Amino acid sequence: MRLGIVGGGQLGRMLAQAGAPLDIRFTFLDPSEAPCASAHGEHLRADWQDETALSRLAEQCDAITFEFENVPTAAVERLAEHRPAFPPAQALATARDRWVEKSLFRELGIAVPPIARIDDQADLDAAVAEIGLPAVVKTRTMGYDGKGQKVLREAADVAGTFAELGEMPLILEGFIDFDHEISAIAVRGRDGEIRHWPVARNEHRQGILHRSEPQPGHPLQRQAEQAIARVMEKLDYVGTLAFEFFVTGEGLLANEIAPRVHNSGHWSIEGAATSQFENHVRAVAGLPLGDTTRLVPCAMLNVIGAFPDRDAVLALPGTRWHDYGKAPRPGRKIGHITVLAVDDRTLAERVAAVDALLVNDLG
Ligand code: AMP
Repeated sequence: MRLGIVGGGQLGRMLAQAGAPLDIRFTFLDPSEAPCASAHGEHLRADWQDETALSRLAEQCDAITFEFENVPTAAVERLAEHRPAFPPAQALATARDRWVEKSLFRELGIAVPPIARIDDQADLDAAVAEIGLPAVVKTRTMGYDGKGQKVLREAADVAGTFAELGEMPLILEGFIDFDHEISAIAVRGRDGEIRHWPVARNEHRQGILHRSEPQPGHPLQRQAEQAIARVMEKLDYVGTLAFEFFVTGEGLLANEIAPRVHNSGHWSIEGAATSQFENHVRAVAGLPLGDTTRLVPCAMLNVIGAFPDRDAVLALPGTRWHDYGKAPRPGRKIGHITVLAVDDRTLAERVAAVDALLVNDLG
């Protein structure tokens, strides 16, 4: 079997690594010269909108999936006419637009921060008057790792913000004074079966994920599972999906979904019976889903912008090194390190030792 992946970044690379023991082969559609996934499969070099390239991908592959959400809906629908293509176009379109996404959460009875849709500066002024400050304004589309966002703390921050963010459709959100952030990751098979990994507690720095740690027994696991299942069923989802939440005194507030494998699930490669990558491949390929139990206490630390001393990390007990084969650049995710231990105390010591070696450049 050959799977086609639209996108050839590290997520595609780790999907291919997970598919290899199942003897599944991969083709990546990506416009760059040597995307990092191409070390693990065929590379079709073309833009994701290139109709001829999309047809070739469909011809060469038995099923198609995506490692990012910014694929035009029409292109996904065309692929799906020829081959099984998951997740469905509707899921990608929903996750691409923060307003559409949060509107769906509200429709499904999933609590969200106060929100307003902004199409010009007058909308923004009115929304700030209603929601109050502090608040966060975000571009509706194309945002990632905290990009295309601005925190509005005082009235002076509001003036001119619509022009500053490029006069694009925006969403205003009340600023949530959360206790911590978690993400729920689940996989849904072609037959509708859903399996959940334990939620992970996430720590961000400058809007970029720094660390994720699965938390079996988290008191809000059930609530997170219910929300993710509602979204998956509504979108007739197939594959792995991540859902990020703010944990507040009143429970969970939904932030966003990612219709794909997610950085906060990388711990599952070594830390779970079946990783998010393998289960995504299984779901898209129509295979039975695997056990999502966490095997041992573990955590994941991102390597961003610059590599730490690799050999010093490898020499520490319980560490697993992942180098995506990408050139370091400030703010760029170039690898991650999984830390494993037999108990929570040892894990905390080991994570602190790895953290002390990191030389991340967030840009
Ligand atoms: P996002 O791109 O929406 O995931 O935002 C990136 C990060 O910014 C989140 O993980 C939070 O740490 C922070 N953030 C986003 N929205 C809010 C909000 N409404 N209130 C407080 N912090 C936020």
